[in-house]
Amino acid sequence: MSATPSILYIFYIVAAVLFILGIKFLSSPRTARYGNLVAAAGMLVVFGATIPLLHEQSWNLNCTLMAIGILIGLALGALGAYSVKMTAMPQMVAAFNGLGGGSAALVAGLEFLRRAHSAEGIAPFFAVTMLFATLIGSLSFSGSIIAFLKLEGHFEKPHTFPGQNFFNGLVLLVILGLCGYLIGGQTTNSTAFVILFALALFFGIAMVMPIGGADMPVVISLLNSFTGLAVAADGFTINNLSMIVAGTLVGSSGTLLTLLMCKAMNRPVTNVLFGAFGSASGSKAAAGGVAGTVKPIQADEAALLLAYAQRVVIVPGYGMAVAQAQHQVRELSDELGKRGIEVQFAIHPVAGRMPGHMNVLLAEANVPYDQLCEMEAINPSMDRVDVCLVIGANDVVNPAAREEKTSPIYGMPIIEADRAKTVIVMKRSMAAGFAGIENHLFYKDNTRMLFGDAKASLNALVAAVKAN
Ligand code: NDP
Repeated sequence: MSATPSILYIFYIVAAVLFILGIKFLSSPRTARYGNLVAAAGMLVVFGATIPLLHEQSWNLNCTLMAIGILIGLALGALGAYSVKMTAMPQMVAAFNGLGGGSAALVAGLEFLRRAHSAEGIAPFFAVTMLFATLIGSLSFSGSIIAFLKLEGHFEKPHTFPGQNFFNGLVLLVILGLCGYLIGGQTTNSTAFVILFALALFFGIAMVMPIGGADMPVVISLLNSFTGLAVAADGFTINNLSMIVAGTLVGSSGTLLTLLMCKAMNRPVTNVLFGAFGSASGSKAAAGGVAGTVKPIQADEAALLLAYAQRVVIVPGYGMAVAQAQHQVRELSDELGKRGIEVQFAIHPVAGRMPGHMNVLLAEANVPYDQLCEMEAINPSMDRVDVCLVIGANDVVNPAAREEKTSPIYGMPIIEADRAKTVIVMKRSMAAGFAGIENHLFYKDNTRMLFGDAKASLNALVAAVKAN
């Protein structure tokens, strides 16, 4: 079976358009599901366009192998999507990204070895693209495995040693030297290639180990962009336009997401990669005495404040995700809405542990999209809020980001909960959030602390509001 390349290019362009539309739809929670389906349809078009390219002699075998691969992928993907908890979503993304990077490295590596030992040899341009894909794909694979394990709670703390950056730089130099050696005409030296492959895997581990567990979403997003670039390089290697387009899209969107997350935390990418943020010494240095006293409140008293408010703003954070309290939040919001109280949700771009974490949870609980407000939109009117209910959020509402120049989060944009007339903070204890620092908000005159698991506290609040 054969087809003219021009027909295939039309299929590739259709797939590219579907990928771009898919990403466009993913940018809003309202259309995100649809975006996933559109991008998946693009993938299906690419699969179909690949079939005529398979070698005629082994057409049946290759089709069978593709079908088996697709079935295994579908089964694992569906199993993951249905069984993984929302709080474990970053791990799932890490695993998928690692597999993508590993596949890209294998395609490039095997093609390199095949061509190196064939009569025609490898032109320098293709040697560069193949080695680039091998290097970036393998470090994305091993780095993603470490990111996955850190998110699962294994060796979460940054693992550092003196001279680590120098050592990592040295490994990188050896890798680049080997690349130069192979490109410079020694492509048949398989030993050098295997050492390069192993060092790239090692470099992925060495790069991620010194980074703290909670920074993993940023790391995964960065590794995701690496995987995209590896796939694009594979596309040049095997002359596949759809891989070039899809890889470039993943590469650029991963880079943009990484930069946006860093901007929202007011930290440069270099600080995430080399700053060992969250290490014991860093947290200790950051903690300090805060003026004011902590004033606890009980659920029935908090319910009274809510029931007599005109405008309530809810700020969800990582603790809401841990407690899986999104349905109770929706119930409370509905209950207040029935009383004519205006309820809005203030969403910080890095609340939780992955981009869009809060949007996804609130969408799962069917909170209407028009109740969700972005930080920049809600901040100017925070002083007109009667009660600001902070549910399991900590760093994203810490006024130290505005008030304390020495704070590690100084300059990070926050939701200005402290400007509301009354603030009720729901959390289990006085424990710090991800940044490991004291929160000035908890000590402010207008703040009351409702201690307990967010789900249990919300159940008590809903019952008390209903009783009022
Ligand atoms: P934080 O990590 O600052 O705080 C979460 C709070 O939730 C904790 O203080 C904890 O206090 C509380 N909590 C935990 N479990 C429960 C529970 N069951 N019930 C009630 N409360 C609970 O979360 P934020 O969302 O405010 O901030 C996110 C942080 O993560 C920021 O520093 C951000 O920079 C960082 N980050 C975010 C990324 C993203 O993409 N979203 C990526 C990388 C980093 P206690 O133990 O006392 O209950």
